[in-house]
Amino acid sequence: MGVVVYSAAQPMPEGTNNHGDLLAALRSDPELSAPDMHLLLVDLPMTPPGLPGPESGFSIAFALLQPHSRGSVRLVSNDPLVPPSIDPRVLTDERDMAGMLTGLSMAREIGGSQALAPWRKDEVLPGAQVTSDAATRAFLNRDVGTYFHGIGTCRIGTGQDAVVDTQLRVHGIHGLRVVDASVMPSIPGANTNATVLAIAERAAAMITGEDLQASDAGQDNILRGFTGPNVTVESGGRCDDEPCDNTARHSTAPRGPIRASAPTRTGPGRKLIRP
Ligand SMILES: Cc1cc2nc3c(=O)[nH]c(=O)nc-3n(C[C@H](O)[C@H](O)[C@H](O)COP(=O)(O)OP(=O)(O)OC[C@H]3O[C@@H](n4cnc5c(N)ncnc54)[C@H](O)[C@@H]3O)c2cc1C
Repeated sequence: MGVVVYSAAQPMPEGTNNHGDLLAALRSDPELSAPDMHLLLVDLPMTPPGLPGPESGFSIAFALLQPHSRGSVRLVSNDPLVPPSIDPRVLTDERDMAGMLTGLSMAREIGGSQALAPWRKDEVLPGAQVTSDAATRAFLNRDVGTYFHGIGTCRIGTGQDAVVDTQLRVHGIHGLRVVDASVMPSIPGANTNATVLAIAERAAAMITGEDLQASDAGQDNILRGFTGPNVTVESGGRCDDEPCDNTARHSTAPRGPIRASAPTRTGPGRKLIRP
C-alpha cells in the first residue's frame, strides 16, 4: 500500500466509521476484466514511519490487489519461540512498480481535484516537487508497505511447494490441518477476511464430518477463485491418507472439496455423515 498525504486547509471532521469511509475498486488498465487496485480515502494523515507528515490532514492510499512480487517467511531456528525471518520483497517485480505508479497518479488526480480544494492545503507526501519518474519511484520504494492481506505460506496443492491438500491436511503429517489465510494458493482480488471465513466454514464441515456434497451440490469450488501452479481442483475429496483421525471421512459417500459457499449448519439438504 502506498499513500499520498495532504495537509488540511480547515479542521477535519471526525470520521463516522473506521477513518476509511470510502473505498474504490478500480482498474489500473481499462482493458482489465476486473479491478486490480484499491483506493482508500482516509480522514487522517497516514504518514509512513520515518517520513514527515502534517498534524492534521487526509490521505489517499492505493494498493494493488494481486501483486506479482513474492516474499518469504523462513524458519531461522528449530526453537518455536524464535521469530521467523520475513522478507516481503515489496515492489521487486517491475509490474508492481508500474501498477503502483498508476495508483499514485490516480490518488493524486483525486486528491488534487476541485472537489477537495476546500479541504486541501498542500500535498505533503510525496510532495509537489516529486514529479520525475526517478523521484516518484524512489518515493514509492520508501513509502510502500503492506496492505495487510498476507496469504499463502501454507498453500493448498499437490506440488512440491504445497503444504496442505484440498482437505487442508498437512502433507506428510497425520492428524494436522491448517485453517487460515495461509492455505490460500493465490491472492484473492479483494480484502481477505471473507475468504478466510469461507475456508473456516468448509473446514469446520470437514472436521465434523458434515456431508458437503448434499447441500452444496452445484456450488462453486473455492479453488476456482484461485490460480497457480500448485492449484489442483479435485472432483471429490475422500481421504486416502490412512490411518485418519476422522472416521466420518471414511464414509462411502463422495465428499466434496472446499467450496466458496458459506454453509448453514442445519437446514434442508444438510445432514451428517455417520461413521
Ligand atoms: C491492520 C489490518 C487491517 C485489515 N483490514 C482488513 C479489512 O478491512 N478487510 C479484510 O477483509 N481483511 C482485513 N485484514 C486482513 C484480515 O484481517 C486477515 O486476512 C484475516 O484476519 C486472516 O485470518 P487468519 O485466521 O488467517 O489469521 P488471524 O486473524 O491473524 O488469526 C490468527 C490467530 O492466531 C492467534 N495466534 C497466533 N499465534 C498463536 C499461538 N502461538 N498460539 C495460539 N494462538 C495464536 C492470533 O492471536 C490470532 O487470533 C486486515 C489485516 C490487518 C493486519
